[in-house]
Amino acid sequence: MDLARYRSIVLLTGAGLSHSAGLPTYRGPGGLWTDERLAKLSDAAALATDRAAVCDLFWSFRRAIGAVQPTPAHRVLAAFEEALPRGTKFHIITQNVDGLHQRAGSRNVCEFHGSLRRWRCEVCTTELEPPDGDAPVHCGERMRPSVVLFGEPIPVDAERTVKQALRDCDLFVAIGTSGTVEPASSFVRWAELSGARRVLLNLEVFDGARALFTECDAGPADELVPRWFG
Ligand SMILES: [Zn+2]
Repeated sequence: MDLARYRSIVLLTGAGLSHSAGLPTYRGPGGLWTDERLAKLSDAAALATDRAAVCDLFWSFRRAIGAVQPTPAHRVLAAFEEALPRGTKFHIITQNVDGLHQRAGSRNVCEFHGSLRRWRCEVCTTELEPPDGDAPVHCGERMRPSVVLFGEPIPVDAERTVKQALRDCDLFVAIGTSGTVEPASSFVRWAELSGARRVLLNLEVFDGARALFTECDAGPADELVPRWFG
């Protein structure tokens, strides 16, 4: 597909990219958010009322991530970045909090929804990567995951990174995300304003996506990503 000839490349990745790693997905059929209790605990308000349960839940997700490996699609994207000509701008913006892009070797990754690798103390604002074992405590209080919970804003620096990356991109590829809900739908519009080629690679392509993207390809990420980026 010769995607390496573009000068400023932005990839947006979502849950579909990590699916074959065997992690639970948050939304959709069998998604964690369909469980009412889990959905409640993923709301920022639950930190005040049910802090231990929220922290336990996310600590169990972190454990699950430690037990899986990056997918073939993650590895292809890391190799693609590595092989780009000097001077090419390349950003991965991910909605995933699993850190699998970095473990596969990707370098320029913006974690739009934060990361389960990092936890922070809400007493003293210390943020760290806790070792395996028991869920971390700091200043006598349970640390929270540095992820964006429902009802919380996107971190300002992440938003700034995304806007700058999209401002002058000439190729935008959304992978493993429907592309039609926020924030992806805004990202693709910004990419359109930059005059970028806009590609959607997702298990399902919904009608709304065809108006936003210049090309749509339906299938599992582990098939599509090697075909487009291999
Ligand atoms: Zn502290």
